[in-house]
Amino acid sequence: MEDMNNIAKNYNPKEFEDRLYREWLEKGYFTPEVDKNKTPYTIVLPPPNITGQLHLGHALNGTLQDILIRWKRMQGYAALWLPGEDHASIATEVRVEKDLASRGIYKKELGREKFLEKVWEWSNTYRARIKNQYMKLGVSCDWTRERFTMDEGLNKAVKEVFVRLYNKGLIYQGNRIINWCPKCMTAISDAEIEYSEKEGSFWHIKYPIKDSKEFVVIATTRPETLLGDVAVAVNPEDERFKELVGKMLILPLVNKEIPVIADAYVDKEFGTGAVKITPAHDPNDYQVGKRHNLPQVVVLNDNGTMNALAGKYEGMDRYDARKTIIEDLEGLGLLVKIDAHNHNVGAHDRCKTVVEPLLSKQWFVKMESLAKPALEVVKEGKVEFVPDRFSKVYYNWLENIQDWCISRQLWWGHRIPVYYCETCGEVIVATEAPDTCTKCGSARLRQDNDVLDTWFSSALWPFSTLGWPDQTEDLKYFYPGDVLVTGYEIIFFWVARMIFSGLDEMGDIPFKHVLIHGMVRDSQGRKMSKSLDNGIDPLEVIEEYGADALRFSLATGNSPGNDMRYYTERVEASRNFANKIWNASRFVLMNLNEELVDKYKPEVDKYRNAADKWILSKLNDVAAEVTENLNKFEFGVAAQKIYDFVWNEICDWYIELIKPRLYGEDCPDKAAAEITLTQVLTESLKLLHPFMPFITEEIYKHISKETESITIAKWPEFTSEKMYQAEVKMMENIIDAIRSIRNIRAEMNVPNSRKAKVMIIPSTTEAKKAFEEGKVYFEKLASAAEVLFPEQSQIPKDAVSAVIPGGEIYLPLEELIDKQKEVERLNKEMERLKKEVDRVNSKLNNQGFVAKAPESVINEEKEKQRSYQEMLDKVLERINSMK
Ligand SMILES: [Zn+2]
Ligand SMILES: [Zn+2]
Repeated sequence: MEDMNNIAKNYNPKEFEDRLYREWLEKGYFTPEVDKNKTPYTIVLPPPNITGQLHLGHALNGTLQDILIRWKRMQGYAALWLPGEDHASIATEVRVEKDLASRGIYKKELGREKFLEKVWEWSNTYRARIKNQYMKLGVSCDWTRERFTMDEGLNKAVKEVFVRLYNKGLIYQGNRIINWCPKCMTAISDAEIEYSEKEGSFWHIKYPIKDSKEFVVIATTRPETLLGDVAVAVNPEDERFKELVGKMLILPLVNKEIPVIADAYVDKEFGTGAVKITPAHDPNDYQVGKRHNLPQVVVLNDNGTMNALAGKYEGMDRYDARKTIIEDLEGLGLLVKIDAHNHNVGAHDRCKTVVEPLLSKQWFVKMESLAKPALEVVKEGKVEFVPDRFSKVYYNWLENIQDWCISRQLWWGHRIPVYYCETCGEVIVATEAPDTCTKCGSARLRQDNDVLDTWFSSALWPFSTLGWPDQTEDLKYFYPGDVLVTGYEIIFFWVARMIFSGLDEMGDIPFKHVLIHGMVRDSQGRKMSKSLDNGIDPLEVIEEYGADALRFSLATGNSPGNDMRYYTERVEASRNFANKIWNASRFVLMNLNEELVDKYKPEVDKYRNAADKWILSKLNDVAAEVTENLNKFEFGVAAQKIYDFVWNEICDWYIELIKPRLYGEDCPDKAAAEITLTQVLTESLKLLHPFMPFITEEIYKHISKETESITIAKWPEFTSEKMYQAEVKMMENIIDAIRSIRNIRAEMNVPNSRKAKVMIIPSTTEAKKAFEEGKVYFEKLASAAEVLFPEQSQIPKDAVSAVIPGGEIYLPLEELIDKQKEVERLNKEMERLKKEVDRVNSKLNNQGFVAKAPESVINEEKEKQRSYQEMLDKVLERINSMK
């Protein structure tokens, strides 16, 4: 324990936050051991991308997890919070590529190996930076177990899962329509696409019927794909086209023959009822093409320009080609009309480029058999979403899931563990690179060039970080985890994939609860973004107000699942709260007489009075409620309860109630007050610790001898022995009475210096006893000159009264005010009101005014008349009562 008197005069978080964090790390408080006598409690940190620095969303996410883990650690669990970072394949590659390009260094010129060296440099810098930022926030992560999605162990896990899924037939390579980003030049998954309504056009184009003067009109939003058309489809039920099915059309510009086919996929009501079929550039057309055995003609290059099959349009950008094609069709008289048409356009979430559905050879994970058990565990309640409404998002995604395209045409990431024999064409899938072909023995092997979707490795995060595929002690003990805390935007990217991966590889769910939090928006409710320049850097907030203030405001503003707004005023209020605690603690420390406390501590229960027992009961209540709120993830409610308890019950009431004892002679009564106050403050610090770890630790070290650090102190528990119902009732009577007296005095503007008699008619003998014991409080806290218990008949007629649960309170008027002065004041007021009443009356008696004025004005005057008269009557009544 530190020296009691040594606590700094002012609350200055900079003086101790970094020091305490270093101390916590040195002592190893955040590193739980595998301990059979303890229950494990595990959280894995959603690994932040190494693309930048932490924003307020990370601070919120980190704060919520830290509250849980610190709370569980204090409850005696082997609490593990496992941190790490995500290599973020495409996001990082794009960032580094851009960064290098700005310095005149180009990815393609560097080549794969040199480029990857650069990304590793970047990655080391950013990982260290991010870790440092988290530490500033005070997170109690076990950094000795820190992992990275590209470290050796996780690479091993990724390869192992790939091989296992492949051997089970769940990974396959196929020519399928995928989403292609022409800017990043890679395939991307459905989940990486952002859809938005865009203005576009519907071009109506004539396709000539072979050996005829007739046409079929089709409508399209992407005329450039016409070059890859292989058929026109109509609905088999459509009478308009019955005769046409089986005939050949001449594809405009290309001048090649394509058939008219019948397929139920075509909606008769949509467009012209005839649909061009481009299997290589549209997922629906792809299906139609498969049913009718049609060829697939790819007309786009990877970078979004037209390829050799596009004929004279080769080399043109897709949008330039679109323009030229429309002009050419118009020149040929084949353009019928252009309708304005709003449609949903998909863009790549990283670079906002419009994606192209494209036929491409990629690796896929078969989802059907993986999705089923992942759906069941949530439906059966084994994994619970908090709030529950998010389970619908989860069901919806998994029930409609497509196979997952996992290959990416990138360099930064886990390279696909597939090897091709250049001699015999054998495909070898293995965790270790083979030296020779397993089929022909040739050494001419080539590894697949692509890397895996970044979510392939983060899907394994809950078990790969614990050592899987090795059966480590950590894995056996800490898996499955307890809670995953994450934002709603990555439910499908990540949460769903962790659940099916956990079930498939570990045979068990990865966590029991998924706590979803919202976004932190600016004070006007807008998303924080670079373009609006309304982002808030958590480090700057910490620099100005301290980490505790930031954490507390993020926690108080939070309710599960909902977005929250960031207000600087709220951080200021949290800092003020910290100040209040600091000052109250200094007061406690300064009034603590250790010798006296030690002497009476063993039998303090004997000496506690009603106020002591009341605050102990209140503490007991608060401990129970806060624990219950945390059980339900109601962080905001829990934080508010602790705040109210410390500010109102302890500071505003208890400390004031016991001041006469603290300032009195050394005696058991004084000792009981000191001991109780210290105890209540210490327990409150513990309740507050998960929210405000630094200030609570700094004070705890000065005030408590229980444990060397509050991080390992015992969480306050409700105990029925500490409920003193009679004393609680008594103190509540007294507090209510004091409040009522204060209210009356405030309403009548009575200065504190003017003491007044308090007369009480208690409703029960119990209440009378309470008020008698409370005499000293009335004197100190309600400016009572004396407290009397008269008969009803002895109460002066002009006494001001208030009814409270324990009885009636009367304050004789002459005690509160100077009668002569008050009569003078009331007379003046009477004169003023009389004039007002006369003025209104003469107006309303004026026929001319009444005839001309609009009704609303007259009503207004009538209302004035009524209200002035009422005020006048009251003043007259007061004057009469004072005579
Ligand atoms: Zn892109
Ligand atoms: Zn071979």
